[in-house]
Amino acid sequence: MESFEYDVAIVGAGTAGCYAAATIATAGYDVVIVERKNADEAGHIACGDALKGADKFPSVMPKSEIADSFTNTAVDHGRFEIPQEDTVLDIPVPGELAVIDRLAYGRLLINGAERAGTDFHYDTVVHRATQDEEGRVSGFEATKKGQRRRYRATVTLDGAGALSLLQDTIDFTGTTFDTNVRYSQFSSAYREVIEVEEPVEWSDALVIKPTKRSAGYLWYFPRTPTEINVGLGFQMNEEPMHLVSDLREDISQRPELQGATVVDKLGAALPTRRPYDSATAAGYMAIGDAAAHVNPISGGGISGAAYAGTYAGEQAVEALEREDTSEELLWRYNERVMDHYGARYAALDIYNIFSTAYDLDELLGLLAALPGQQLSEALYSGSSSVGFGLKLKVLYKSFGHWGTLKNLYETKGLADRLLAHYERYPDSPHEFDAWQAERDSIMDDIYAATGAAPKY
Ligand SMILES: Cc1cc2nc3c(=O)[nH]c(=O)nc-3n(C[C@H](O)[C@H](O)[C@H](O)COP(=O)(O)OP(=O)(O)OC[C@H]3O[C@@H](n4cnc5c(N)ncnc54)[C@H](O)[C@@H]3O)c2cc1C
Repeated sequence: MESFEYDVAIVGAGTAGCYAAATIATAGYDVVIVERKNADEAGHIACGDALKGADKFPSVMPKSEIADSFTNTAVDHGRFEIPQEDTVLDIPVPGELAVIDRLAYGRLLINGAERAGTDFHYDTVVHRATQDEEGRVSGFEATKKGQRRRYRATVTLDGAGALSLLQDTIDFTGTTFDTNVRYSQFSSAYREVIEVEEPVEWSDALVIKPTKRSAGYLWYFPRTPTEINVGLGFQMNEEPMHLVSDLREDISQRPELQGATVVDKLGAALPTRRPYDSATAAGYMAIGDAAAHVNPISGGGISGAAYAGTYAGEQAVEALEREDTSEELLWRYNERVMDHYGARYAALDIYNIFSTAYDLDELLGLLAALPGQQLSEALYSGSSSVGFGLKLKVLYKSFGHWGTLKNLYETKGLADRLLAHYERYPDSPHEFDAWQAERDSIMDDIYAATGAAPKY
């Protein structure tokens, strides 16, 4: 079997893998990215192509290095269409926003990581992680064009995306790594890129709407005024949707999209759950979608993956410098993810849990009554406060949904309690069990208050 040896071996040439590799190579260490796709297809990822917060991207590959892939920087708000209520809500999106050519973006990342000194091994499918006698992850085995190969590494990073198969091959006994992961905590999604002759009127908006048949969502994101990324998805604990035919049906009902040409199609799973409680084990860190670093409401995961890759890359460099790859040393990576966005995403997940306890029409009715600014704050901050005047307005408009509204406010209180607990995320693995037990007891209160079935 052919064998390779690196300081750090990374699975997956996505956003997380590329940011991690660029960080490690820039620090002067040997790093390889092993990617199952070929060199032309690498970077071609199923996505809505909406990129948020590029101006704050990690300095190892800042906005200036990816901006050439931005095809629409005029988008500045979400347009929430609720046909059931005959309502359109314009929701401000805070921070910088762009719709991008996702393949061009993916290639820019790969080029950036390569320039920093990363080796790329394409056409190579990783199928199993390896562990030494003490249980430390020591690399992985892969196959390239029918030939088996072995990668040995001081640190292994799993950037293989949602439901990464690597994790099924590792014995995590004695580690804190989160194994409470089920497919029902993920969404199944499909998207097409379509072209039309005439510019659409909503080229400055991200259009989102609920699906007709199941509790799913549809999006129309304009890459340019004539090139639209259209897609849909549903949480996998719900009745399965017919993704392709449901999408076609919705497109057929929009006059502005008649005669559109499909230029690209892709589908994938995405995490719509809280981030992994811990994404470390000795010699190993999971990054990006492989550790659910995604906003569970909007499905936005590009910036989370960029930061997870960067933080894990920096932690890998520290581990190499100190010649210590213990879980204790790698733990700082978990803390930085939770500090930056993990806590907020965990709190937002409570609104997903809340929504499973209600009838879709009831929720849409309530949604139609809420002011866009409020929804925006709830979506992006993980919590929000409502002034007295606004409360009166909401109460007036939401007549008929007051029971649900009351429960929503109670849920907000519980989400705030959870957020406060995540802000006390432990600074070493030793206090992790106690932190997790307290978090689980808050979750029990949340299930009891919302009447929702336990998600975890
Ligand atoms: C339909 C859809 C729409 C989305 N829309 C948006 C959006 O509009 N905005 C946003 O911010 N986020 C969006 N997301 C989420 C976003 O795409 C992800 O969060 C982000 O791509 C995660 O990056 P990653 O590097 O962790 O994983 P990925 O980008 O998934 O990269 C994983 C890489 O690993 C490779 N790989 C996997 N398994 C193996 C293996 N066994 N061996 C070798 N290589 C392997 C894959 O080929 C891939 O290149 C969307 C996701 C989906 C599915």
